[in-house]
Amino acid sequence: MKTILLLNKKFKMKISSVQVKTAIEHIADRINSDYEGKEILFVAVLNGSFMFAAELLRKVKPLNRISFVKIASYQGETTGAIKELIGLKEDLNGKHVILIEDIVDTGFTLDHVMSQIKSTYRPASIAVATLLFKPQSYRKSIPIAYIGLEIPNDFVIGWGLDYNGYGRNLDNIYAVDNHSS
Ligand code: 5GP
Repeated sequence: MKTILLLNKKFKMKISSVQVKTAIEHIADRINSDYEGKEILFVAVLNGSFMFAAELLRKVKPLNRISFVKIASYQGETTGAIKELIGLKEDLNGKHVILIEDIVDTGFTLDHVMSQIKSTYRPASIAVATLLFKPQSYRKSIPIAYIGLEIPNDFVIGWGLDYNGYGRNLDNIYAVDNHSS
């Protein structure tokens, strides 16, 4: 099995580039039929989603635009960690919005993004597309319409996902090897 060393950690290859691309093609096929004749506004949540977004948009056929946002996390004085959606310049009112996420783990990030969008805009529809989903750790009830691959609760890198900022460029998906020293 292919193993890599990144900084101080060993990672094992879990999902090949071919499997990732096939999963993204399946999502694109479903979007192409679900949104036929409609215009889509994709909102990609950076940083991790840039690779998935690029691959997905190459395969999507309905008329579309893409906007990129970020989550800024900071410590509030009384409320603890605050997550704020920044960079959203588009008016989402009346649009068919598809949020693009790299990975949904507990779902707290997605929940923040969704509630901030819904408190400001009235999109015609809003759906979520995520490359990876960890069903065992998901704590929210927001439906995720388009899931590339379901994975166990391991920490993964590659295809935009990082370890301390590194590894986003890896073409396969690797999981941390907890049994290595
Ligand atoms: P959630 O709020 O759903 O728990 O976590 C979502 C965010 O946590 C993702 O956008 C990502 O930044 C980070 N994250 C969760 N699981 C992983 C993982 O396995 N690998 C990496 N690199 N980031 C993860």
